[in-house]
Amino acid sequence: MYDARPKQIRIPSVDSVLRGEQGQVAVARFGHAATVEAVRTHIAAVREAVRSGADNDLDIDADAIATGAIARLIAADAPTLRRVFNLTGTVLHTNLGRAVLPEEAIEAAVSAMRHATNIELDIASGKRGERDDHVRGLVREITGAEDCVVVNNNASAVLLALNTFGNGKEAVVSRGELIEIGGAFRLPDIMARAGAKLIEVGTTNRTHLRDYENAMSPATGLIMKAHTSNYLIQGFTASVAASDLAALAQKHGVPFIDDLGSGTLVDLAHYGLRSEPTVQQALKAGADLVTFSGDKLLGGPQIGIVAGRKDLIANAAKNPLKRALRIDKIRMAALAATLKLYRNTETLPQRLPTLRMFVRSREDIRSQAERLLPVLASAFDGLATIALADCSSQIGSGALPLETLPSAGVSLSPPKGVTSGAYVETVARAFRSASIPVVGRIHDGALVLDLRCLDDEAAFVAELGDIARSLAQGGVP
Ligand SMILES: *Cc1c(COP(=O)(O)O)cnc(C)c1O
Repeated sequence: MYDARPKQIRIPSVDSVLRGEQGQVAVARFGHAATVEAVRTHIAAVREAVRSGADNDLDIDADAIATGAIARLIAADAPTLRRVFNLTGTVLHTNLGRAVLPEEAIEAAVSAMRHATNIELDIASGKRGERDDHVRGLVREITGAEDCVVVNNNASAVLLALNTFGNGKEAVVSRGELIEIGGAFRLPDIMARAGAKLIEVGTTNRTHLRDYENAMSPATGLIMKAHTSNYLIQGFTASVAASDLAALAQKHGVPFIDDLGSGTLVDLAHYGLRSEPTVQQALKAGADLVTFSGDKLLGGPQIGIVAGRKDLIANAAKNPLKRALRIDKIRMAALAATLKLYRNTETLPQRLPTLRMFVRSREDIRSQAERLLPVLASAFDGLATIALADCSSQIGSGALPLETLPSAGVSLSPPKGVTSGAYVETVARAFRSASIPVVGRIHDGALVLDLRCLDDEAAFVAELGDIARSLAQGGVP
């Protein structure tokens, strides 16, 4: 018989939940305060569900409440920063953490994390050492620079250099090089924060030596050149050779600073890629200081280096900003280990993941795609049309913006009979919801997975079933 009376459901008290078996388990694992909070939250949610009649089948004994609270505590404990599969085709993806570090760097970083470390102790003398001593010799050996300072990232390196030599003075830069790098790095803004007055010379497409000459005055603190790493000005253009700027700067007794950005330490042409100016070349061309990143083409941790003349580096190292921008022992260990790999440029492509991914040939990637094609086709049978796709990978992080690397992958497009525009978004979301989220690229109504950076194929294959199941349950739109 139908019972019209309001539901009479008794919800256990917080105390009785905590005293129960599952309550004790939760307290032991998460602590009293956090458990009480989660139990309260869960009871409130259950009460709300009962009132709104959302669920007529609520199981509300004390242990069920505790189990619900444990689920909440586990969810709250899950890291937000997670490993992902970068199948975007952009090797150095800033939003995905840029460079994947070499094993040598990982081991060094783990050891530095686990143990006390002589980050500022000279073991031989027992006296205080300098943090940057751990890489000074390596940077000198590899780049030919006299000296260096290491800071948090290249934006910091630029800030430190500009503040040390341009604070209260004028910094002369070509209009064509007033760069903005993704993530709010704008040269004019950094310059203002560094206390330097920006003197723009020339025009967007053409700057001549006489433009720089006319801008020089007793107030000039430095001349700066910025590598236009994420764009190219083409057509009727003119810029001034670094060697000419170096000579002009020298004549006026001010430093010439070259912001290289991506910090290449080997000529990429050596590995069949297009050349990007190296740190060595920039120094040879006459830069007094060069600034570059650690996690772009260099393939190491996020750091920035100012390298160049010893007397200038000494000034930068004394700047109080250096203290604010310094790096920790973990990244120092990783950086030193990464730099050491550059001693053998023959083995570099095997040992440095960034370079290994750059040099992968389309044939190699396509054979991986061909291997995965039937696996994907069977997992997504009826859920997607799977096809081989030719891709163009990018280096990313503003390095070699016009250079694409011929690559290959697989595409997932709607199965026969499905036309919905929401399809591809749903599929992309299902891949991102995997236990190791898969990040691909949406192109022409399909989800494209560029396989250039897929090294752990087994882990990828292992989660395809779950992705397909969640897609099937969610309903293909
Ligand atoms: C990337 C880049 C920067 C910023 O470097 P971060 O390491 O991202 O701080 C500055 N200048 C140039 C030319 C760059 O390419």
